[in-house]
Order: sequence, then C-alpha cells, then structure tokens
Amino acid sequence: MELRASEADQAFRAELREWLGRELPLLPPMPARDAWDARRKWDTDWQRRLFDAGYAGLHWPKEYGGRGASPTEQLIFYDETTRARAPYVGVNFVGTLHAGPTLIEEGSEEQKAAHLPLILRGDEVWCQGFSEPGAGSDLASLRTRAERDGDDYVLNGQKIWCSFGHIADVGEFLVRTDPDAPKHKGISWLILPMNLPGIEVRPLRTALGSSEFCEVFLTDVRVPLSQRVGAENDGWRVTNVTLKYERGTAFVSELVDSLRLCEDLAGRIDDPAHARELGRCLADFEALWALTKRNVSQARRGTTGPGAMVIKLAYTEARQRFGELCLRVLERDAFDLDNELVEERIRTLALTIAAGSSQIQRNIIGERVLGLPREPR
Ligand SMILES: Cc1cc2nc3c(=O)[nH]c(=O)nc-3n(C[C@H](O)[C@H](O)[C@H](O)COP(=O)(O)OP(=O)(O)OC[C@H]3O[C@@H](n4cnc5c(N)ncnc54)[C@H](O)[C@@H]3O)c2cc1C
Repeated sequence: MELRASEADQAFRAELREWLGRELPLLPPMPARDAWDARRKWDTDWQRRLFDAGYAGLHWPKEYGGRGASPTEQLIFYDETTRARAPYVGVNFVGTLHAGPTLIEEGSEEQKAAHLPLILRGDEVWCQGFSEPGAGSDLASLRTRAERDGDDYVLNGQKIWCSFGHIADVGEFLVRTDPDAPKHKGISWLILPMNLPGIEVRPLRTALGSSEFCEVFLTDVRVPLSQRVGAENDGWRVTNVTLKYERGTAFVSELVDSLRLCEDLAGRIDDPAHARELGRCLADFEALWALTKRNVSQARRGTTGPGAMVIKLAYTEARQRFGELCLRVLERDAFDLDNELVEERIRTLALTIAAGSSQIQRNIIGERVLGLPREPR
C-alpha cells in the first residue's frame, strides 16, 4: 500500500489544519478534573464539533455517520489533531475507540443503527464492564451471572475498574450465561443501558485525586435478550474483537502525543546525559509510529502481523521510560501536580496494566507470535 501522501491526502491535511486553526481558539477552558458533568459536556461538545465538520469516526462506514476515510487520512488526522493540541476523545474513549468498532464488526443492524450515530455525535457515552474483583488478567473467570427469564436476562454480580461508569449512558458488559460450560465458552457480550433499575455505580479515588474508576454492582438487573451482541455463549470471541481495538488502534493518539511531549521536554533539558536518554525515547516513539503505519497498511490488506500484537506492550513500556526521564529532568518541579509532564507521568503509570498487563501481553506474544508452549490453565 502507498503510504506517501497523495495530492488528496495533502488537501485533507491542509483542510483539517485550517479547521483546527479556526475551531481550537473557540474552545472554552477545560473544566477541573473532578467536575464530572462539565467534563462530560466539554468532551462531548468537542465530539459534536468533529461530527458536524465530518471528522468523527474517520474510518467508520459512512452509513453509520462515519467518514469512510482511507488509512493515510486516519494517520494524518491523528498527527494533525495531536500536534495542534486538540482535545483527546476523553470520556468518549470506550464508545469511539472500541465499543463502536466492535458493533460495526459484530452488532446487528438494529444495534448499529441505535448506537453508532449517537456515539459519533457525542450523544452517548459508553463504559466498559469487563473486569471483576476476581477476574482481571484472567478475564474469562468472570462470575457476573446472566440468567434467562422470558425475553430478558437477569444480571447479578460486581464489576470493577469501570472507567467513567458514573457518567456513562451505556456499557459493554461481559456476563456468564452458561456456568457449566468451560470458562471461555459460557460468556456473552451485552449492551447495558446504565440507567436500568438495579445498577449501582460507586466511584473510586485514584492517585490523581479524580474519581474516574468505578465499581458497578448489579442486582436483579433485567436486560432484554436483544441487547446481546453475537450469539449466546460466544462472547469470548466478540471480546477478542473489542480487545483487538482496545490494545491496537486505541493507542495511536497516545503515541503521537508522546512525540509532542518529547519536544516539550527537550526545551527543559541542559544535561547531555538527559539529552541522550530523550533521544532514545524519541527513537522508540518514532519506531512505534512507523510500526503503526505498517500495521495500518497490513490491516488495509486484511492481514494482521505481529506488529499489532506488540504495539501495546512496546508503547506502554516506552512511555514508562519517558515518564521516569521527565521526573528526573524536572527535579523539584516534579512535585508540581499541575505540570502537564508530571500529571502525564502519574496517569501513564497505569498504562502497563490497563487493557491487559505487560506480563499478559508477553504471554500472548509468546504463545501466539513466537509459538511457545501455552501457559498451564
Ligand atoms: C487505567 C485503567 C483503566 C481501566 N479501565 C477499565 C475499564 O474501563 N473496564 C474494565 O473492565 N477494566 C478496566 N481496567 C482493568 C484492567 O483491565 C485490569 O486492571 C487488568 O486487566 C489487570 O487485572 P487486575 O487489575 O485484576 O490484575 P491481576 O490480574 O490481579 O494481576 C496482578 C499482577 O499479576 C500479573 N499476572 C496475572 N496473571 C498472570 C499470568 N498468567 N502470567 C504472568 N503474570 C500474571 C499481572 O501482570 C499483574 O502484574 C482498567 C485498568 C486501568 C489500570
């Protein structure tokens, strides 16, 4: 595939850059970290602006409100929006980065029509209810039960680490629909409206002081069977579609943002040893950006190479090295929690855990890419 910019790509870049130049100065100041209603409004307003200008769901099919853009246009979009310091997807990340793409691949026509345009317009915020207190890395051990009763499932159980659960409208939830089947074979993937009776969301506090994570308690929650995506008990396969996006394309903006932060840090460095370390970080991020382009190119041809499997592990570990360097360069300023580089360091500490820890990524690469013996189960 041709990844060099064509005339059409260059025109797309120029048009986007001009639009960003017009829109970004109009944005109101970002709300405080804990002002959740205001944060939701701020993030979804930006999503609406993207939608109105034709920049939402760039690679989503046109019939669901997307742009049906080419892979190079997607990469240009990430590049331009990040370098212009445009807002990131924020509270919309589950809907736009992995629930929406999962619905595009696995949802029924009714499910796609009901949710995809709302996600793109910023009218529907999603959360993810996968993890449980006893099921994180070993996600397939999840125990939240869904028992059939007429045309409904009745849900009982507990989820944890549900990011933005307290302000979400809908969740992608994994439930056990067959407790007697082997653990990977008795799971279903559900669309769960978060306002149903019996759902209790309790925010948890994080080191950043914000209550972005939630516990979710489900007590006799009735969900219509029509909210299931994929066949009953085939949810593990659907989950792997979600994880493909969550561990792959969801990191692209983060990666481009890291290149920008490297530039910011460079302006604060006067020690040659720090400069050498920054050079190594920059080389890592540049290499990952090149790998991303290769992954996009392969995906376009309908293949997935090992690059898609290693990107999450390689990026999140490179980002940890960069974060450590930031703190050393900042010295006493590293105590300033309002400094973007410090805040980013604390936030990104979680990246090697979120969406599957580094150890689990190594197991997956060992087994699926290198063909090493499987872990005993
Ligand atoms: C920022 C962030 C956002 C998140 N958002 C969500 C969300 O919105 N929704 C959601 O459902 N979940 C979310 N999570 C949860 C996340 O998916 C889990 O934290 C992650 O899968 C790890 O599970 P755990 O925390 O239970 O750790 P555990 O599974 O208990 O693991 C503990 C440690 O043991 C290691 N370990 C476990 N098993 C193995 C093994 N077989 N081999 C080698 N090492 C192993 C792990 O690598 C880890 O170091 C989020 C987490 C973070 C950090």
